[in-house]
Amino acid sequence: MADTPVPILMYHSVATAPNDATRALSVAPEAFAEQMAMIGDLGFTPVNTADLAASWRSSRPLPRRPLLITFDDGYEGVHRHALPVLAKHGFAATLFVSTGWIKGGHDTGGGLDTMLDWDQVRELAAADVEIGGHSHTHPQLDQLDDGTLRHELIHCKEIVADELGTVPASFAYPYGYSSRRVREAVRETGYAQALAVGNGLARRRQGPYALQRVTVRRSTGIEEFERLVEGRSIARNFARDRALTKGYAMVRRARQVRRKAIRTRV
Ligand SMILES: [Zn+2]
Repeated sequence: MADTPVPILMYHSVATAPNDATRALSVAPEAFAEQMAMIGDLGFTPVNTADLAASWRSSRPLPRRPLLITFDDGYEGVHRHALPVLAKHGFAATLFVSTGWIKGGHDTGGGLDTMLDWDQVRELAAADVEIGGHSHTHPQLDQLDDGTLRHELIHCKEIVADELGTVPASFAYPYGYSSRRVREAVRETGYAQALAVGNGLARRRQGPYALQRVTVRRSTGIEEFERLVEGRSIARNFARDRALTKGYAMVRRARQVRRKAIRTRV
């Protein structure tokens, strides 16, 4: 269908022991594995950002229940913890790197926690993770003057192209902030699509430079996660979700019991 809403999940770090700067937006490796299992169980087909946008541009059909898994900034845990899980399921994903935060020759020292190095970014790319841009130093782009804004976008694109041998096609706005001027600059730099942050699912009518993502947090329980990907209200069930400390194994068991009950009835 032309305007089927698509969940675009925004992750940051996947870490067992995140620091204070990244804790709220980091996800525990076990939680990440559970979430990926649920995506598979619910019949979603993860695609990368460029493929979603290309399909929407050309009206080419998308796979069944498309969904995007994205990671911002470039934390080391994406390679250590997320990549093996993605590979196990055969899930596509997109990593948006702030080039000045990645360890190595372009490092400006701004990274908030242990960051990937370029060899790890290349390994992710080789494992079918799309590498997109996320600026060079992670500023609030709408606060920059034109020259600095262009530099942030172009420098990021050139470094990714130099390090990977492929020009990045997709971009994610740091902090999700953009303005008309920022979106135009991103387009003029050569990025074909860009992701923002919102509270809803992405739709074609949002346009290729303002696709909304939903945030996955350390506090996101598995039932809330299910509501996120299904596009159901988050706030309404918040209290109930807080009370649910049981893991996905139990949720899954309950669902199986329910299915069995339905089967025996008919
Ligand atoms: Zn970021």
